[in-house]
Amino acid sequence: ADTLKEKSVEKAVKYAMKKIEGSYSFTLMLNDRVFGLRDPLGIKPLCLGKIDKGYVIASESVAIDVLGGEFIRDIEPGELIEITPDGYKSYKLMEEKHKAHCFFEYVYFARADSFIDGIEVYKARERLGRVLAEEHPVEADYVVPIPDSGRAHAYGFSKASGIPVAEGLMKNRYIARTFILPTQKIRERLVQLKLNPVKSIVEGKRIVIVDDSIVRGTTMRKIVGLLRRHGAKEVHVRIASPPIIAPCYFGIDMTTREQLIASGRSVEEIREKIGADSLGYISIEGLVKALDIDKNDLCLGCVTGEYPIRLKGEKYRFQESLEKWREK
Ligand code: SF4
Repeated sequence: ADTLKEKSVEKAVKYAMKKIEGSYSFTLMLNDRVFGLRDPLGIKPLCLGKIDKGYVIASESVAIDVLGGEFIRDIEPGELIEITPDGYKSYKLMEEKHKAHCFFEYVYFARADSFIDGIEVYKARERLGRVLAEEHPVEADYVVPIPDSGRAHAYGFSKASGIPVAEGLMKNRYIARTFILPTQKIRERLVQLKLNPVKSIVEGKRIVIVDDSIVRGTTMRKIVGLLRRHGAKEVHVRIASPPIIAPCYFGIDMTTREQLIASGRSVEEIREKIGADSLGYISIEGLVKALDIDKNDLCLGCVTGEYPIRLKGEKYRFQESLEKWREK
């Protein structure tokens, strides 16, 4: 409140930033000024664009494209942008040594035609698919993407393995993303409504399904069963993210370890549960290599169980250096 008396929004925001730890990217409006702020670790994206005589602040660059605007740049972690009738100003309020970009944005959340922190999401996904094929080769007739989020990964897998891509699963586009739905029962029912196999591609064939992730395993188990019922000879599963073993505390609906199929299970146990002939996840090293982002600048909390922010009962990602520093 004292800071606000100074009538300086940037000082007030800086004060708040020092108090708040977590993931946030937001805008606020004050009379004729609009502000955009990204947390100091840059966990989630935020960018700035130009449209007609004004500006746009958006989570993804694709939002600026569809409005007919022009992408200017990403808002930096710890940066506050102020938009006034005369243009925009930047205030670098906090500078952390390491960032913590959510790897899941590149793997699943963002639209493939978005750019995040200078990286095109489609290209990142294609590279993930390539690395996945190198790490987990398989003999098969077709690579079948899970529409739509697994598509770019599948193309990358196909290019690296030489196995042709075939759209063996058709999607009902009016059904929402299954893993964000409220109950297990609704999720299971909707998987069935959501995808249907193409008989000529699936029947009698060895299929490799490539998808972005397995969270609860509900969708994947249904898909493997669906392909088998439609005559697939073999069903191999390749996943473009490492096993999700721990919850996300930064806004993604993966809240408890009990919900996660990979928590406390080996890859072989998961394979058995989903009913696939083989299962391969990209490694953490493979993920980092494909994204081409320094490992220390990524949030990998849900796949390592080590978080970029100190959380009660969880491991901090720089725990070792923190402990060494305390011992000194
Ligand atoms: S815990 Fe996982 S989903 Fe959550 S922000 Fe980190 S990388 Fe993203």
